[in-house]
Order: sequence, then structure tokens, then C-alpha cells
Amino acid sequence: MHSQSWQIQFANAIRSPAHLLEHVELGAEALGYSENGIKQFPVRVPVAFADRMQRQNPNDPLLRQVFPYLDEDIEDGRFTHDPLNEAASHVAPGLLHKYEDRVLNISTGACAIHCRYCFRRHFPYQDSGFSHSDWQEKLGYIKSNNAIHEVILSGGDPLSLADSKLQEMFDQLNQINHIKRIRIHSRFPVVIPDRINKELIKTLNRGKKECIVVLHINHANEINDAMIKAIKQMTSQGMLVFNQSVLMKGINNSTETLIKLSEKLIENQIVPYYLHLLDPVSGTTHYEVGETEAKKLIKEMKNRVSGYLVPKLVREIHGQKSKISINFR
Ligand SMILES: *Cc1c(COP(=O)(O)O)cnc(C)c1O
Ligand code: SF4
Repeated sequence: MHSQSWQIQFANAIRSPAHLLEHVELGAEALGYSENGIKQFPVRVPVAFADRMQRQNPNDPLLRQVFPYLDEDIEDGRFTHDPLNEAASHVAPGLLHKYEDRVLNISTGACAIHCRYCFRRHFPYQDSGFSHSDWQEKLGYIKSNNAIHEVILSGGDPLSLADSKLQEMFDQLNQINHIKRIRIHSRFPVVIPDRINKELIKTLNRGKKECIVVLHINHANEINDAMIKAIKQMTSQGMLVFNQSVLMKGINNSTETLIKLSEKLIENQIVPYYLHLLDPVSGTTHYEVGETEAKKLIKEMKNRVSGYLVPKLVREIHGQKSKISINFR
């Protein structure tokens, strides 16, 4: 347990490859790292997350998600800066309206952790509009579009925002009749579980809208007692909690690993939602798992466990009306 407030834990995250390696007892120079990679996207790992890594294991699946390997320098024409062409879907600064009944709001540029494979590692957050007037513009768009039934607070990580800011956003969204649901996409409950407290739960349940939380967990080792306690605060209030993962080489590309993750999720009332194929973002080629292997893994899962333990295998393709399910028999 951490006695520090979530804000202090957020501020005191590990911020260099050397510190990260020391934390897991590997020695500061055990692994080479990409200078260019950390210039683009600095290292950021909360101690509460690093504590769940196995000591002295350079292949630890949690370390692998956050360590800036030299492989980030590999260039591959298929991997670009904005593979999803998100720039084209902005309807207001930082508001994406790609799918019919829902909008995604980039609520902040800040994340509790920096995941090296993230498709937002090159995201131009400085253009995204976090000012008061930007928020008013977004609200105006949402208010004037009856087809929008759900607002997704994403980021960055929306739970990096102060409770007072979240309260204000919820209050304003709660007043819009055609909004039925507010969804939070966050890694905070996983990486800094102390972010979840009574005050936050009160904020999320502030209005009559349903509040849905989508977590991001890639490996069962991320699930510890503190995280389970945080999630219980939500599920015990009747909130729906889902999980999405990214399929990645050396992290979770085995049937056993995926089944173990799903079982641990369900044990804690978290529903496996999506398993994403990696977005082809430059600097992430070393995590790629091909579609053929991905299909095989899901097929094996289906043959072995209950249907609800098998997440939907999806990939995002620019210009489509939803995430694309990868179908097979
Ligand atoms: C992923 C995403 C959503 C949510 O999609 P679901 O399939 O409903 O989870 C919404 N808007 C954008 C822009 C997205 O990228
Ligand atoms: S928390 Fe989410 S948005 Fe932030 S770096 Fe990780 S994957 Fe990307």
C-alpha cells in the first residue's frame, strides 16, 4: 500500500530508463534504450506499477510495456505518426466524432503511465484544446447533435484531471438530455489505484447518466490487491467495468496468458471487451503480432473457455464506422 496521495504518486513517477532498471534490480545499464524514443515520448512509470514487475527479469511483461527499447529506432514504412488519421476526425479542438452515436473527448494530454506502444505517442496534444473556451466549443457541438448518445472521456487519461474539473464536466454533460452515457477510458485504476476514492466515485455517479469505465490491462500480473480494491469501489456501485488490451509480442501473445488475464478480470467483475491489434505507430514494430497469429490465439481461446472470456479481436481502420472485428471461423 502507498500512503502517498495519488497526486504525489503521479508526480513522483519513475522518469528514466536507468531508474526503471534499478527499480527492478537489473542495473542501470542492463538494457540499451532509444534516446530518440524518450525525446519523443519520455519514460513515465508510477512506482505502484513498477512494484508489480518481477525483479531481475529483463523480459518481464510489465517492464516490456514501458521500457524504451533500442528497437524504437527501427524504421518501417508501414508504421507512421498518425496511422488512424485522427487529424481528420476532429469536429472541435480535441473532440473526435468518428462513430455515429458517440464522441471521444481528448480531455487532457497527461497520462499516469507512458505505454511505449501507444498510438498517441506522437499525438499533437498541444493543439488539442484544453482551455475553457475549447471545452465550451466541444459542449456546443455535443449539445447541437441529437445523434450523440455517449461521450467518451479519453486522453491522455481523463483521471489525471482534478476532481473539481471532472465534476464540472460531468455537471455540464448531465444537463444534456440526449446524452445517455458517459464513458471513461482510463489506466489510472490499474497503475495508481489510489486515484479511486469516495470523492471520485461520487463524481462519476453525480447525475442520472450511466457511467461506464473501460480499463486497459494487458497482462494478469497488472492485477494486484490494490487494483482489485479500486475496482470494487466501482462495481459495488453498480458501475459497468470493461477492459481492453493490446495484443503484443513478448507481453501477451500466448493463449495461456490471454486466458489467465480474462479469468482474473471476470473474477473481479471486469468484462473482457477488446483485444486490439497494434496500431502501426512508428517506433512500435517490435511489438507487432500478425493477424494470422492473432486469429490462431483467439481460436484457441474459443476452443478452451467460455465465450465471455474471449475478447473481440479488433483493428482500427481509418474511415470505417466502427472498430473492425476480425472475423474467422
Ligand atoms: C475507439 C473509439 C470510440 C469507441 O468505440 P467503441 O467501439 O464504442 O468502444 C469512439 N470514438 C473514437 C474516435 C474511437 O477511437
Ligand atoms: S495510458 Fe493509454 S493513452 Fe496513456 S500512454 Fe498508455 S495507452 Fe496511451
